[in-house]
Amino acid sequence: MTFKLVIVIATIGILLILESKFPFFKFPNSLRSRITNNFELGAINSLLSSLFAVAVSSSKLLSSGHLGLFTQISEPAIAGGLAFLVLDLYMYLWHRSMHTIPIAWRFHRLHHTDRTMNVSTAYRFHPIEIISSSIPKLALIWWLAIPSSSVLIYELVFTVVVALHHSNLNLPASLDRILSSVILTPNYHRIHHSQIVSETNSNYASVLIWWDRLFGTHKSCPNISDIQLGIADETRELNIWQFLGFRL
Ligand SMILES: [Zn+2]
Repeated sequence: MTFKLVIVIATIGILLILESKFPFFKFPNSLRSRITNNFELGAINSLLSSLFAVAVSSSKLLSSGHLGLFTQISEPAIAGGLAFLVLDLYMYLWHRSMHTIPIAWRFHRLHHTDRTMNVSTAYRFHPIEIISSSIPKLALIWWLAIPSSSVLIYELVFTVVVALHHSNLNLPASLDRILSSVILTPNYHRIHHSQIVSETNSNYASVLIWWDRLFGTHKSCPNISDIQLGIADETRELNIWQFLGFRL
């Protein structure tokens, strides 16, 4: 847990510096209060999800039998690779469901209201979305008996990649091309945060970029710099209390 916290803080710190030195969009200077609000929400969410994980892991819910697929795999590298794919596919399906199930979109929509997308946007999620995404994920981990080391590795990579692809960093085109053959880059995810609904409802992947192509939800955009971020009919600058009550 402490190690993960160090990775989170280091990732945020590095990306905040990089996106301020090499910004993609030129946002107004009033960005600081919005960033603070997003990080405050992130701190609340991380506390809630930690308490939830502790409560579930210490309960009797996990003491009964399970399918235990991963206990049948003796090679750690194969188990780790397979676990990574399973967890990332889960995140793809979860994110897609946030856009296609109307009541889920009411909460996920908060994440999309940020018109100045930056590294802090990676933490702008409604607590109900964070907790409800943990329930099937923990059940999946338990049901397949995915090793905790594999879960930790995925969580660390997820943390870094999600912070990166929400950042306002202007990656050099050559680096973007290389990275985006495997993982999400900021340019790829900016399309998902476009105000154009058909673009919002595309590019759902979290870490590995392949899921959208595999399931037909990939969209490209010739002029990323022309994208208007956010949700067209939500122009308010929300504070932390409005975040928590957000379910329009
Ligand atoms: Zn989304």
